[in-house]
Amino acid sequence: MAEIVTVLGPIRAEELGVTDAHDHLFLRSPALKGQEFDDLDKAVEEVSNAATGGLRAVVEVTPIGLGRRPAKLRAVATATGVHIVAATGYHRDAHYEEGHWVRGAPVELLAERILADLRQGMHPDDWLTDAQLDSARAGVIKAGASYQRISALEERRLIAAAAGSRETGAPILVHTEIGTCGHEIVDLLTREGIKADRIILAHLDRNPDLELHREIADRGVRLEYDTPGRIKYRPDSQLLDLIAGMVESGHHSAVMLGLDLGRRDYFRAYAGGPGLTYLMETFVPRLRSRIGDDAVQKILVDTPAQAFAMATA
Ligand SMILES: [Zn+2]
Repeated sequence: MAEIVTVLGPIRAEELGVTDAHDHLFLRSPALKGQEFDDLDKAVEEVSNAATGGLRAVVEVTPIGLGRRPAKLRAVATATGVHIVAATGYHRDAHYEEGHWVRGAPVELLAERILADLRQGMHPDDWLTDAQLDSARAGVIKAGASYQRISALEERRLIAAAAGSRETGAPILVHTEIGTCGHEIVDLLTREGIKADRIILAHLDRNPDLELHREIADRGVRLEYDTPGRIKYRPDSQLLDLIAGMVESGHHSAVMLGLDLGRRDYFRAYAGGPGLTYLMETFVPRLRSRIGDDAVQKILVDTPAQAFAMATA
C-alpha cells in the first residue's frame, strides 16, 4: 500500500484526509525581511483552528535554508492530531544570501542532503551547525525557479531534486514565480528521468491561464492553486472560475489547493489574515457550491493522497 511520510512517521495514503497541499508554519528568508514566523504556540493555534474547520493534513513546504523547524513540526502534529508532511530541497535563488552554502554546493552535495532528510531525518539547522538529525523525515522535495527563467543555480538544484526523487519515489513540488516556466520545469525534470506524476507545480493560479493549465495537466503533472484569500492578487471569484474551468474539461484530478501562508502578516495568530482557517471555512464552501462535493473530494483528499505518496519502484 502506498505510504505518505509525515513528521511523525509514515501513514497509509488513504489516512491523509482533507489536505492543504502547500503551506508554511515556520519560515524565515532574506527575501521576506520582517515577515519571519517561528512561534510554536501560534502555529499550534492556527493548525488547531483549521482542524476544527475540517483540515486533516498540512504539507509544510518550507525548504532547506528558510527556517525549517522539524522538532516544532512534530510538536504541532502531536498537539493537533493533524498530519504534517515536511519538505527537503531548495527554493529559488532569491531566498539564499550570497555565500550561503546552497549557492556554492555541487549537485552531489545538494542531492546527498536531500536524501539524508528523506531517509534518515531532517537536519534541524540545515547543516549550518553539526546538530544531530531530527527524527522527523521529509516527505516531499521542494524546488524553485525564477520569474520567466530557470537560473543556472536553480537548474542545479532541480537536478538534485530529481536525483532525490529517483532514489526514493518522493514527489517534487516546484515553486513557479507568478506561474511562469511550467513547461520548462517539466521538460527539465522529465529529462532527468522523473515521471510526470511525481511533479507538482505550485502557484500556477498566479497566472490563471486556463488553456495553459489544461495543457500542463495533459502532460500528467499536478497543479497546485494556493492563493485563496490573497485578495491583493485578484478576487476569489476568479480562482473559482479557474477551478470550475478545469473541472469542466475533466482536469479536476490534476488540481490541489493550499493557502501558502508565507508571511507572518498572513496569520490570525500574528494579528493578520486570511489565516489557516480560510481554506475550509471561507473558500471551500464557495467551491462546493460551484463544482459539487465529488470534485471537491478529489481536489482536497484523493489527489493529495496520490500526489504525496512515495512511489514504489
Ligand atoms: Zn510557499
